[in-house]
Amino acid sequence: MAEETIFSKIIRKEIPANIVYQDEFVTAFRDIAPQAKTHILIIPNHIIPTVNDVTEQDERILGRLFTTAAKLAQEEGIAEDGYRLIINCNKHGGQEVFHLHMHLLGGEPLGKMLAK
Ligand code: AMP
Repeated sequence: MAEETIFSKIIRKEIPANIVYQDEFVTAFRDIAPQAKTHILIIPNHIIPTVNDVTEQDERILGRLFTTAAKLAQEEGIAEDGYRLIINCNKHGGQEVFHLHMHLLGGEPLGKMLAK
């Protein structure tokens, strides 16, 4: 059983978060330290620590991350101008919370993909 992070508490609503969407597979909430005008995290409800831990059994849930991103982008009014989806993995990816999450970033031009 994978170790819980603060995100499990957000899913169970044990700590406050600005949840914008939740269903049987995923939860989406606003990032506490937004890096763009719109910055939402979309996470599976069950713990997958990193992309390295993804299995075929997760394919339906991982698909829901994308359909939720598309739906929220529409709702946020950023779909047409565009946005960026990021999933960080481990040290080189800059992952800080080990519960797989997709960042939905937009609402303004985001610049180059990598700041070097
Ligand atoms: P990552 O570096 O990809 O692991 O991203 C972790 C993200 O989680 C960061 O953007 C944090 O600002 C965000 N974060 C951490 N704790 C919380 C929280 N309690 N509520 C909302 N976002 C959070």
